[in-house]
Amino acid sequence: MDALDVMGKKDKIFPYFQPIVSADKQQIIGYEVLGRIRTEEGIKSLGFFFEDSSIPEEYILEIDTHIRNAAIDYFQKRESDQSLFLNCNARHLLYDHGETITNSLEDYATSGISYGKIVIEVSGYDVEDDQLQKLQHILTYYKSLGVQVAISHAGSTMSNIEKIAFLNPNIIKVDLTNLKDKGMPPEYREVLYALSMLGRKIGATLLFEGIEGIGQLKYAWENGGRYYQGYYLGRPGPEFLSVDKCKPLLTKEFHHFIEHERKRLLSLYTLSQNFNHHLQQQVKRTKHNDWNVIVSEAAQSLGEACFRGYICDEDGRQVSANYYRNGEGIWESQPEYEGDNWSWRPYFLENIVRMRHEQVGILSDLYSDIETNELIRTYSYPINETHYLFLDIPYLYLYERDDY
Ligand code: CA
Repeated sequence: MDALDVMGKKDKIFPYFQPIVSADKQQIIGYEVLGRIRTEEGIKSLGFFFEDSSIPEEYILEIDTHIRNAAIDYFQKRESDQSLFLNCNARHLLYDHGETITNSLEDYATSGISYGKIVIEVSGYDVEDDQLQKLQHILTYYKSLGVQVAISHAGSTMSNIEKIAFLNPNIIKVDLTNLKDKGMPPEYREVLYALSMLGRKIGATLLFEGIEGIGQLKYAWENGGRYYQGYYLGRPGPEFLSVDKCKPLLTKEFHHFIEHERKRLLSLYTLSQNFNHHLQQQVKRTKHNDWNVIVSEAAQSLGEACFRGYICDEDGRQVSANYYRNGEGIWESQPEYEGDNWSWRPYFLENIVRMRHEQVGILSDLYSDIETNELIRTYSYPINETHYLFLDIPYLYLYERDDY
């Protein structure tokens, strides 16, 4: 079907609703409104029409308003206390300074639908800076009415995080369609992680969409997602569903996630305890007070569990060489690192303070090593009040204990 054919078939165009569920209530808290058209070959998505930039904006806005009004009518009849998520492309909002939507919102409010039940879901905000400013003004106005603003991040693109921060939405919508369980490139995983951190910092709720299987649901749960949407939970359809429809599924799956995560955390805790106990004995046994001897003995004593060790003072200044196990498994000393300062590294001073006061070692999170680019963890251990041992643990060793 040609995009322009759509214009003559308004009577065949209607909304579909896809449920959005919340992790806290485990209920359907709202629906995204999606345009559909009845054709001879059956019901089709209108996505192609809205994404076609050759269609004049006023046509798009006309069809969009038609779908939106029909959705609001249905919503009102249902007397639902859920929310309606309405799609808006930034280009169409900018075309008339958001006026079409503003007028609609005012009409809906007059007919008794409070602004708080409406979520404006903005896509296509990858625009020039001056346009982005204008978009921000429009969205700020909507928010002042009490309307919620969601920004959808096209999951496969890496950029635009700064634009999301600038638009300061209530909800960040992240598409997980491309996340097929563990087959996703690690960089992409990091972008999703950055988005979840951004959400935390700017106080935006995370909504993960494109949840098509349990792997994506688990990812959303692990990464602070409060709202979920996708085929695994509910396909778009012409009617609203029972509010508790997803509850049994979510209750069951959350229970599995929690069990699995608890096991993983317990195994990391045990690993950390074992290292601590081992190093206590090891450091006690050392007869030397030469840092290079202390670090080499400690690193070697851990065998496969360690590939690099060094010692820093409480200011982060490295007082030993690096002691490093190379690709052939042979330990070598790298004196060029002595005197370097590591206080600038994330969590460094925080960990020093903790170790100093608690006198136990700390296992770091999983991160990419600057040199090998492999995922590792570091175990830090207080040798005394002022000096700390750092031991890098290879992913190979962590893999079985730390099911990432
Ligand atoms: Ca959408």
